[in-house]
Amino acid sequence: MKKKLNNPFEHFQVDSDCISCDMCEGIAPLHFKIIQDKQCAAVIKQPQTPSEFKVCEDAFTCCPVGAIQKSSLCQ
Ligand code: SF4
Repeated sequence: MKKKLNNPFEHFQVDSDCISCDMCEGIAPLHFKIIQDKQCAAVIKQPQTPSEFKVCEDAFTCCPVGAIQKSSLCQ
């Protein structure tokens, strides 16, 4: 079961479905990082520019378990 996210959150957030596959960090290393202690990815920097939003969107799309949540601010 997904852990409830803090709302409202800023742009992108990783939820408890993360399987620590490292794909998001590979796609957007400035924005996502695997936290080894928690065996889960986290957003380390929210996107600010169109190109940063693009790579975060790419990570969002590629997450194999849908663990990256996108705020309605990004719609
Ligand atoms: S791509 Fe998804 S499952 Fe993989 S580390 Fe990132 S948030 Fe977790």
